Amino acid sequence: LTQLWSPLHFLGFVYREIRHALADMERMFGLLRQDEEVADAPGARALSGAEATVSFDAVDFSYDGKREILQGVSFTIPAGKTLAVVGASGAGKSTLARLLFRFYDVSGGAVRVNGTDIRQLTQDSLRAHIGIVPQDTVLFNDTIWANIAYGRPEASREEVIDAARRAHIHAFVETLPDGYDTQVGERGLKLSGGEKQRVAIARALLKNPPIMIFDEATSALDSRTERAIQQELAAAASGRTTLVVAHRLSTIVDADEIVVLDAGRVIERGNHRTLVAAGGRYSALWAMQQQGEAAAADL
Ligand code: ADP
Ligand code: MG
Repeated sequence: LTQLWSPLHFLGFVYREIRHALADMERMFGLLRQDEEVADAPGARALSGAEATVSFDAVDFSYDGKREILQGVSFTIPAGKTLAVVGASGAGKSTLARLLFRFYDVSGGAVRVNGTDIRQLTQDSLRAHIGIVPQDTVLFNDTIWANIAYGRPEASREEVIDAARRAHIHAFVETLPDGYDTQVGERGLKLSGGEKQRVAIARALLKNPPIMIFDEATSALDSRTERAIQQELAAAASGRTTLVVAHRLSTIVDADEIVVLDAGRVIERGNHRTLVAAGGRYSALWAMQQQGEAAAADL
């Protein structure tokens, strides 16, 4: 009997651990899901390959089935290119990131990777292909080390430390008595917003996936650290399919395409040069931020 019992006991343990990890994942995205779970379709395929073209095809979305959050949103990010999304708070930018990670299914249209509707892919394989720095990072209740290595548990010590260095969090970790073994999360050391954000950046850099999502990935950092990390993020995006939600337009002037979202609809698209020349919403935002930065430099 004991021989039977222990594997079952072990499975129960594994199951509980997985439930935990999933709950942590959801908290990490600041989500409380009341709707039914997103599940693998029968016969779902595994996404494979190192190249990924992402497309949103006439995507409609509503969280509650009543209020439309996205309406007819279409864009394509060719493999290795960067698409930036800008727009006012509440426009639906983070929702795009969540749909690509398939935290929710679209209400209309489709999100595709390499031409396949992501509802036909296994969630595990989809998420294994995506590194995401969410707007508000919630860390797992575990060590700093585990939080960084989460995306690639087999990573070597050198690789984890290198990612932490590039995310400008290594020096801070070294000041802690327990270093990388420090417990963080709700039951551990409370990190500041900027520290948590840098842990999330280190995690994404270490994971090294074909698709990157940066959702206002440096919004909690002071401007000097932001500038330094911005270079690392640009290097990480290079050659990778990247969706970047930007709060500071100066960070996306080199994006291959920029989409301006307003109340869930795309109202302008182009590159930095064409959008500034067009004299619309983007151009007004750009002028405003340029003035703001000039004023800040005068201080
Ligand atoms: P942005 O990132 O552009 O600021 P979001 O995509 O976060 O905007 O949100 C778009 C809209 O969706 C907002 O009106 C927001 O209140 C709403 N929203 C965001 N998350 C949820 C959720 N989990 N449930 C219901 N509504 C949500
Ligand atoms: Mg957002």
